[in-house]
Amino acid sequence: MNASADLMTAPVGGTGHPGPVPAVRRGACPSLDQPMRTGDGLLVRLTPSRRGLTLATAQAVCEMARRHGNGLLEISTRGNLQIRGLSDDSAAQLSDKIDPLRDHFRFGLTVDADPLDPRDPNENGRAKAIVGRIEHEAEKTGLKQRLAPKFSMIVDAGGPVDYSGLKADIRLRLLETQRWAILIGGTEATGRHLGDLAADEAAIAACVLAAVIATIVPNARGRDMQADQARDAISCVAPSFVPAVGDASPFRPADRQTVADVGALRLGGTMAAILSPAYGTMTADDLQSLIEAAASLTDATNASRIRIHTVPDRLLVVTGLSAHGAEALLGTAAAKRFIAQPDDPRRAIACCAGHPACASAYFDTHGLADLLVSHGLLGNREQPVHLSGCKKQCARPASAALHVVGTTAGVDCLDEAGTVIAQYTRPDDTLPLVLGLPQSEEGRP
Ligand code: SF4
Repeated sequence: MNASADLMTAPVGGTGHPGPVPAVRRGACPSLDQPMRTGDGLLVRLTPSRRGLTLATAQAVCEMARRHGNGLLEISTRGNLQIRGLSDDSAAQLSDKIDPLRDHFRFGLTVDADPLDPRDPNENGRAKAIVGRIEHEAEKTGLKQRLAPKFSMIVDAGGPVDYSGLKADIRLRLLETQRWAILIGGTEATGRHLGDLAADEAAIAACVLAAVIATIVPNARGRDMQADQARDAISCVAPSFVPAVGDASPFRPADRQTVADVGALRLGGTMAAILSPAYGTMTADDLQSLIEAAASLTDATNASRIRIHTVPDRLLVVTGLSAHGAEALLGTAAAKRFIAQPDDPRRAIACCAGHPACASAYFDTHGLADLLVSHGLLGNREQPVHLSGCKKQCARPASAALHVVGTTAGVDCLDEAGTVIAQYTRPDDTLPLVLGLPQSEEGRP
């Protein structure tokens, strides 16, 4: 096979090619006001509102991606929508275009809550009521400006969208007792458990905790806070708070069933079609085809009830459909570069943008992923193969069977502990190692 010359940014050994540029530091966050420079220009990250995008707004985003960017859109691992390939001028034009649509997006402190939870249908629901209070308080006190750019909170009532594997600086998780557990740092299973408290004190406790974290050091995160200090801060504002004995999270991965996955899903009285752009990337044309297909499934009145959500695990969720409509839309998506079957092997590969989309990449991550699938990779979604164009590892999953990381000399293959177990000058030389990993059911715990 002679694919390496295509998969590498430049032949190893150098040909005068300037090579990849150093990655932007971890922790930087590309907003509308501060786009991030990448290999194909500037990248802007947008967070759709929890009500989701109407078909008209989603169509406007496609048009902006084509007109001002390079026509490529991504859904990030945290469920944000990214527009790629902007210039300095076109990023400013995009910002002007987004301005009248600001209500369709969120721009404040990152507070994630399940937009699909049918038990939490409106802004007065369980998690959303707490989120609303946090956002109001954060806005009033200028909290976001005092926190690290990537500081995030998760308010998780156990709905269909699984937030358990995402890290959060502060996490509120609904317990069976209808009280809220509060954790700092890590994922749901690895965060430090501070204790639990009543729903009406959860928002103020989270805000006070964030304000205290902001005073530790510049850009401090939840992981930087001492658990006892955090418990003291919460006790001052939340009389219902019961401190935990020890820091261990009471949650385990098996405690929660992932419900929102690729396929059709009933949400209350309607159906949703859930799909995933291959490796998180889609063209504006493909997304537009999907929007037009969704619009054609119903009349204009009902089309206004259809919403598009982007959620963690790089899922695109179209809600407000009939059962027939959801199946039809999944069929349309499968004909494009979307994943519409849960057992699609591409879901067992975690990829960053790689070359040529990212200037820091040493190889074409999507090209290697396609090569692995074409050679029969089945993979294992609980332990995906992680392909990273450089050591920054933007798309690093919570755990992986193997990390393939681009270097100046080719690629390093690392285990979970970070030990280099193999090095290759050509990315495609990793095939025997990757294809020899436990596959599908065989590899599941
Ligand atoms: S990990 Fe991938 S996307 Fe991130 S900076 Fe490196 S090459 Fe670019």
